[in-house]
Amino acid sequence: MSNPAPVLRFAPSPTGLLHVGNARTALYNALFARQQGGIFILRYDDTDLARSTAEFADAIAEDLDWLGIPPDRVEHQSKRTDRYDAAMEKLKAIGRLYPAYETEEELETKRLSRRRRNLPPLYDRAALALTDTERAQLEAEGRRPHWRFKLDGRHVVWDDMVRGRCDVDTATLSDPVLVREDGSYLYTPTSVVDDIEMGVTHVVRGEDHVTNTGVQIEIIEALGAVPPTFAHHNLLTLPSGEGLSKRLGHLSLRALREAGEEALAVASLAVLTGTSLAVEPVADLDALAARLDFAKVSRAPARFDPTELSALTAATLHHLPYAAVAARLAASGIGGGEPFWLAVRGNLATLADAAKWWCVVEGPLAPVVAPEDADFLNLAAGLLPEEPWDNEVYPRWIAAVKPAAGRSGRALFHPLRLALTGEESGPELKALLPLIGRAKAGVRLRGRSA
Ligand code: GLU
Repeated sequence: MSNPAPVLRFAPSPTGLLHVGNARTALYNALFARQQGGIFILRYDDTDLARSTAEFADAIAEDLDWLGIPPDRVEHQSKRTDRYDAAMEKLKAIGRLYPAYETEEELETKRLSRRRRNLPPLYDRAALALTDTERAQLEAEGRRPHWRFKLDGRHVVWDDMVRGRCDVDTATLSDPVLVREDGSYLYTPTSVVDDIEMGVTHVVRGEDHVTNTGVQIEIIEALGAVPPTFAHHNLLTLPSGEGLSKRLGHLSLRALREAGEEALAVASLAVLTGTSLAVEPVADLDALAARLDFAKVSRAPARFDPTELSALTAATLHHLPYAAVAARLAASGIGGGEPFWLAVRGNLATLADAAKWWCVVEGPLAPVVAPEDADFLNLAAGLLPEEPWDNEVYPRWIAAVKPAAGRSGRALFHPLRLALTGEESGPELKALLPLIGRAKAGVRLRGRSA
């Protein structure tokens, strides 16, 4: 029997703007799904109602669209409480979820007393020993329980696609609280229930979740399900080595987009940094997906360098086919079609620079004509070939101008460029001249605005 199509999910909490580290996780999931013919779910981890907002949820969807990885399906944990309730009842019924009544202060006192005795600050499971009468008494005092998952206390082992064999000894962990006193859920149970019920086959996330995975595998198995395959990737940091923070707004996708960075460049760098793969421009996300290989992701945190990103944005633009930018050029009122794009793309640092070259083509612009070049430029204007023009008009024109003017090299080309474009440097005149056209070129060469 063939394996079912992989199901992957990206599960951000909508409590801030996504940063490049979040983008790395989203892309690893989406691109692995793409590579394997699977599906990619965006699952809002929005059970923290106090901190989650609809604005951040919308911003996340917008950022994923911008990156080119819109989800195949969207889920909201806040709408699935009945599913979590049902799963918790199941755990209670098999004795794996138990009520505990300690207050935060009581727990802190216990932790301190264990530390004084050189014991790890683990929960002592006192609540497990409570009799029915004692529980009734605590409830009568007005206490409400929080609920803890009873760990097996064993070595939970899995074969991680990035980290190889992993082993978490759950005997070294406190029984985790899954449900708070007010009945709200912590992240662990909601994530586990959703992964099971949504048929998630691969959980790809940051290595900060490795310990959680030990606990989650125990819960998944207690619920009678088979754990998915896990991949825990290394985390991206600021160039200083400091961890990225959504709360502090570090390297947000929004800010990078507003700075003019190309989505494809951001995606390439977010995916390839911290791997043994070379960071180089890719033609599209399919090409990036084809390169993705979890075995090549390194174990150490990796620095994300915004300077490298700017260079990659430029390099990406220099190779981008017209079809990939046509809509964005049109939206900015830039015409000229493919010939214009091919003429200017090699000169762009960001796509916004294309507008400048479109103004040069369209005009009107004030030509730059040095007094000593005026006669030469008039002569050149008179030699402009008749229309219609094709792509070879520039070499034909130069072949006529050169002997007539007795100029060559910089003395020949530089005044022509200054007069035709008003700029010291820029795209090849061979490509620009047909776009400027005979009428405007003639006027500019004669020193007038056009
Ligand atoms: N909301 C969690 C996070 O962003 C999801 C972790 C997971 O993928 O399970 O860290």
